[in-house]
Amino acid sequence: MRFLGAPVPFDASDDDIRAAVDAADHVPLLVATAHLTGDLSILEPELAPDQLLLLDPTAGLTPELLSRGKELAAAALIAHRDAGCPAPPPPDEETILALINFVTGGVDDPQLLELIHEELALDEADHRAPRWRHDEVAPDRPFSVAIIGAGMSGIVAAHRLRQAGIDFTILEKDADVGGTWLDNIYPGCRVDVPNHFYSYSFAQSAEWPQFFSTQDVLLDYFRSCAEVFGLRPNIRFSTEVLSATWDDDAQQWVVRTLAAGADQDAGEVVEERYDAVLSAVGQLNQPSFPDIEGRDSFAGPSFHSARWRDDVELAGKRVAVIGTGASAAQFIPPVADEAAELLVFQRTAPWLIPTENYHDVLPDGVRWLLHHVPDYARWDRLWIFWRTQEGLLPCATIDPDWPPTEQSVSMMNEFIRQMLMEHLTAGFPEPDLLAAVVPDYPPLAKRFVRDNGIWARTLHRDDVHLITTGIERITPSGVVTADGVEHPVDVIIYGTGFQASRFLTPMQVTGRGGADLHEQWGGDARAYLGITVPNFPNLFLFYGPNTNIVVNGSIIYFSELEARYTVEAIGMLLRAGKRALDCRAEVHDAYNEEIDARNAEMAWSFSKVSSWYKAESGRSAQNWPFSLLEYWKRTLEPDPDDYVLT
Ligand code: NAP
Repeated sequence: MRFLGAPVPFDASDDDIRAAVDAADHVPLLVATAHLTGDLSILEPELAPDQLLLLDPTAGLTPELLSRGKELAAAALIAHRDAGCPAPPPPDEETILALINFVTGGVDDPQLLELIHEELALDEADHRAPRWRHDEVAPDRPFSVAIIGAGMSGIVAAHRLRQAGIDFTILEKDADVGGTWLDNIYPGCRVDVPNHFYSYSFAQSAEWPQFFSTQDVLLDYFRSCAEVFGLRPNIRFSTEVLSATWDDDAQQWVVRTLAAGADQDAGEVVEERYDAVLSAVGQLNQPSFPDIEGRDSFAGPSFHSARWRDDVELAGKRVAVIGTGASAAQFIPPVADEAAELLVFQRTAPWLIPTENYHDVLPDGVRWLLHHVPDYARWDRLWIFWRTQEGLLPCATIDPDWPPTEQSVSMMNEFIRQMLMEHLTAGFPEPDLLAAVVPDYPPLAKRFVRDNGIWARTLHRDDVHLITTGIERITPSGVVTADGVEHPVDVIIYGTGFQASRFLTPMQVTGRGGADLHEQWGGDARAYLGITVPNFPNLFLFYGPNTNIVVNGSIIYFSELEARYTVEAIGMLLRAGKRALDCRAEVHDAYNEEIDARNAEMAWSFSKVSSWYKAESGRSAQNWPFSLLEYWKRTLEPDPDDYVLT
């Protein structure tokens, strides 16, 4: 995987340039071209996106305006070629602001502008890098960190600690990096956030082959990052963390690990001390199996989507899939291609968001642009960021004047519902099938499933059967539904999701005065900013409670900000000459009240639909209910008053 570099000069023909421009997205194309060529005259005001129509694929621009934009971009690139592709001088602040204003319509909030610069990372600037180094702030104070997990969050955490000169070890249960992208190898697995945004701001790839890349490509990206940042020597692979215990006297964590193949009973557990522990284990890593009578009695092979069994031959078999969530929706079409017959057991229908280019490779024209106008990727990233900053949050918010129902929670929500209904009605013209696939909960109460029409095509196959009657039990030979019908199958695949609310399980985490993390949570995980928990000094959580997003942003964005906050907190500790920081209970509680109050106004809390967004108590322990900017503001730097420093 190659990261974005300098523009490569070109001598392409006029036609080739026009073809490239034709394949590109209007907004990033115009801005990237103006950026490269210095010709800001192409940013004509009427070609700017309509800020009220950001969710519209063309941002309110008519076909005439779109084609005028393309003509102007092509002419500017042709003139640039004719001038010998001079290397652009670094644009001054005023020019960058003009480019940003074209995308955003103008930004009043200086903090939002700062965030935009961070996301853009022009000239490969790494704005979120630590602003201090261990050897400068506390050269005589050794400090070591254990990072649990070498997935997307663990990699960014480690990179930031390395930049700050802090000693760290990553403890990873698997034999490689990648986390969720290593675990989920089911057919059809791909990201559902556009890739120019689903990547680190400080390591933007020049080579995404698709708009929404497949699992192997993402795994390759994270492997490359670990390689390029030199993290592998610090990773102990195939090592599971059993427990982390805070030693009140030494003010350190005692971390107990078990290497693969080692015997716990034979005393082969390794015990080490660290000054801080970063949990980067993710929310979606412990498979959840449904509590269905007789599940263990099934005589054939059965497995979970996150533990895919390549050794199980599906060809010629009658296969049952239980679940129709984000994972199942991705693997059901390829499984249908392979199996002799496929039975899809659906409890809750997913809302599908039409995404025409979901499976498409990047057109050659866009690849050409990424090579010769690499900042196209950065401006595309900003464009996606800008549209998802708030994204559909307002449409997920309950309008008090629109009494919420399981149909919709506001007029805007109803509008989204109608748009999604059009997609379903077009794909499922038969009333019976349509009734079976129309969700009975408000849109945005669960994450959308992206769809380019493949869901309807798959469910219309003669060898695929959608079963919506509840499952009563599983027998050695198949599945019995509540209507008494027995469905014989050879293989069962569980697309039944993860134990998301059981954060940090099965590890045992013991804090100050012997406090047990899971007991303290009582099945209802909470943390301050999703990162710190009172009584658990120097413990930092990544993708912790209430940092998941349903309708806006990307989890990578949150991990980057969590990494900055955590590293700055360690810097704060070292500068103060202290050993430990513990979040004040009142700060934590007030913050959680705010989160809960806001979450209560969201469709995902109101709706009775089953989802992984709720803990056993019914409270949403998963979701962040505010904008991306809000999380950025709150995590910009730790406030010493939020912590007791000892
Ligand atoms: P999920 O969204 O929790 O879906 C689980 C499915 O299993 C649901 O359809 C659920 O039905 C069904 N189910 C659970 N227990 C059942 C039972 N006893 N009987 C019948 N059906 C049952 O899990 P997931 O699909 O693995 O996705 C989890 C999350 O991972 C997603 O929301 C997303 O954030 C992430 N993800 C992302 C991608 C991507 O980026 N492309 C891909 C996959 C996953 P109910 O709805 O009725 O509970």
